[in-house]
Amino acid sequence: MTPRLVDVALPLPLFRAFTYAVPDGLRNAVTAGTRVVVPFRQRTAIGVVLGESNGESLGTAVAKPILDAPDALPAFRPDLLAVGRWMADYYVSPVGLVLRAALPAAMGRARRADPPLRTQRVLRIAQPLDTLMQRDAVFARAPQQRALYELLETLGGQSTVAHLVERLGCSEAVVRGLVKRGVAAVVQEPVDRDPFVSRAAPPPAAVTPSDAQRGAIAALRSGAPGATFLLHGITGSGKTLVYLEFLRHVLHDRRQSAIVLVPEIALTPQTVDRFRAVFGDLVAVLHSGLSDGERYDAWRALQRGDKRIAIGARSAVFAPLENLGAIVVDEEHEATYKQGEAPRYHAREVAIVRAREAGAVVVLGSATPSLESWANAQSGKYHLLSLPARVGGGALPKVNIVDLRHEAGAGAPAAVQALRRILSAPLEAALHDRLARGEQSLLLLNRRGFANFVTCPDGHVVACPNCAISLTYHRTPERLICHYCQHTEALEASCRECGAENLKQRGVGTQQVERLLNERFPTARVARMDVDTTSGKWAHTEILDRVGRGEVDILLGTQMIAKGLDFPNVTLVGVIDADIGINLPDFRASERTFQLLSQVAGRAGRGPKGGEVFIQTRTPTHHAVQCAVEHDYLRFVGEELPAREDPPYPPTLRLANLVISGLDELAVADCAQQAAVWLAPRLEALGGDLTMVGPAPCPIERIKGRWRWHLALKAARPAALTRLMRAFLTRFELPAAHEMRVTFDRDPVALL
Ligand code: ADP
Ligand code: ZN
Repeated sequence: MTPRLVDVALPLPLFRAFTYAVPDGLRNAVTAGTRVVVPFRQRTAIGVVLGESNGESLGTAVAKPILDAPDALPAFRPDLLAVGRWMADYYVSPVGLVLRAALPAAMGRARRADPPLRTQRVLRIAQPLDTLMQRDAVFARAPQQRALYELLETLGGQSTVAHLVERLGCSEAVVRGLVKRGVAAVVQEPVDRDPFVSRAAPPPAAVTPSDAQRGAIAALRSGAPGATFLLHGITGSGKTLVYLEFLRHVLHDRRQSAIVLVPEIALTPQTVDRFRAVFGDLVAVLHSGLSDGERYDAWRALQRGDKRIAIGARSAVFAPLENLGAIVVDEEHEATYKQGEAPRYHAREVAIVRAREAGAVVVLGSATPSLESWANAQSGKYHLLSLPARVGGGALPKVNIVDLRHEAGAGAPAAVQALRRILSAPLEAALHDRLARGEQSLLLLNRRGFANFVTCPDGHVVACPNCAISLTYHRTPERLICHYCQHTEALEASCRECGAENLKQRGVGTQQVERLLNERFPTARVARMDVDTTSGKWAHTEILDRVGRGEVDILLGTQMIAKGLDFPNVTLVGVIDADIGINLPDFRASERTFQLLSQVAGRAGRGPKGGEVFIQTRTPTHHAVQCAVEHDYLRFVGEELPAREDPPYPPTLRLANLVISGLDELAVADCAQQAAVWLAPRLEALGGDLTMVGPAPCPIERIKGRWRWHLALKAARPAALTRLMRAFLTRFELPAAHEMRVTFDRDPVALL
């Protein structure tokens, strides 16, 4: 009798599957989607069964038997397996790597980590230190204790000692030190505590949906399986209530399950809280603060059906839910939905494919939809739903432009001009007003550090030795940092190029604005939220909770503060410099600017007190600024879409970026030319369906010591691009030297 053979995907960078025999003992355990342990090159490997095999690829070899199938249920149900295969094909990524990326890390290993202990030691904050000054005083000579305290804080105020010690790479003496100071205490706690679970979810507010909300909810309820809806609702129009009511129907009336994707869990605690308030224990929050074991437990709970809503960032799109009824993609325009490393998938696109496979309905929600989604709604591929007004008759805030070219008061003393370039008189007056009335303000500056770069009078800029990028000047502690590779160096007294001594800092960053605010408003409680103040996973939540409790007067931050916050007492939003990013060499520069300005403006006036916005800019007539001022998404789209036609960019056609990188500049340039030579005749054979731009150095031509060249491919027909890239990635030979590498990014969110 011939043995039963199956094809198995292994997590290897190879575009092929491997054939194995199914031993009789595993006959019933092995089916498509089953995780299996197989012998591979003298070792064992974990793979996923793709399906039955006719043994063709074996040739004369004899199939080795599968060693084990450790799970009670297949890791991939048919819909998810089909999604994995689609991703492998569309993103031209080996299917074994795609499937591994879709599973919790713990399942990539042969055995689970040792069974957890029953109780574990947990370190808990005993005495909160709210101000930076307090911390400076308490931890003056104990930087490690401070780091531990701040990590703890970011983890929600408590975490296991084991986890903390591992994360910081410190000894337990640091923990003891913190306890001795009385700042924290060690307690014994039962295992399996998800820090998110300990956040008290507020009771659901009893609200009656508006007519517009009711219409959207009804449309979603009657959506056909596999349908995609674009919910375009202005900021504060109540999109979340629409999701909640739709999911209530999906979960309770239809007994189905659902996935909710958010751009970043840490930045959207309010949204997560609202789902937990309504669905309680049915919700699994998949956040990056989970340990591998906790993630695995959450995954299993979803697979068993104990939890029926998965909320998380992009990888939650792979949640192993059966009987999936809905996928919500909140803030669908956010770039974080695109994975930056292989497989470079876009969670929004994967969500749509998964919904099609599972027969679920997809809701893409945004106040500023991506142009791709908008075009799909216009063509009828998606169903458009609109919430054109704020709930409860609230008005959108009035947006004022402050033209910085005229604000800096010509003739005024230099110090005044310097101040006014950062904080104009109208914005400062508006801040005073809010402080006097006990209302809150948000200030956006999408640039961290103290100064953007340091330059000498001759214009030499201090640059990173590893990247083609200037170093950012940071204070406290004072140093220059590369935001791409984290290279750090001390600030030198003179220019390395020409020896000139009067080095100047240029381009204001959040640290500088924070200092200025503390000078101008000495009694105000200012909080800063950027990458530097949120090094731990839960720091964001902690800061936002303080804002929610009214303990912060002015929240200053990077784009982090622009996402989805709903604080009714915020009546003022200020944008320190709207022009950052507007001139980036990227076709999405205007779109990103418009989205950022609109989103942050939308944080103002969400309560009965109303609100007001000031945008400081030197390009007041730019359409990204103008349309944000007028809250006019349709006008923005009307101006931006034609600009994407000539030269053509998405959504007019599909784009892909082929990046060749390596340690030697000339070798990389040469290899990029070779790639172009390889591609050119094949493109010609396709007769205009595919065109190539480049090769050219990438806009950032060196990152982390690697030189980078790229080729942009523009495709009128996606299928042609898939075939050509598959041929290229399997057949084009990279030189063996210089650590040469090629990466393929389909539907890139940026070309940098
Ligand atoms: P969006 O996500 O569209 O910006 P939200 O969903 O955050 O808006 O809603 C804004 C605020 O309005 C929230 O505080 C929400 O609880 C409240 N809200 C939503 N729908 C209604 C309604 N129908 N009546 C009263 N308040 C509502
Ligand atoms: Zn660098």
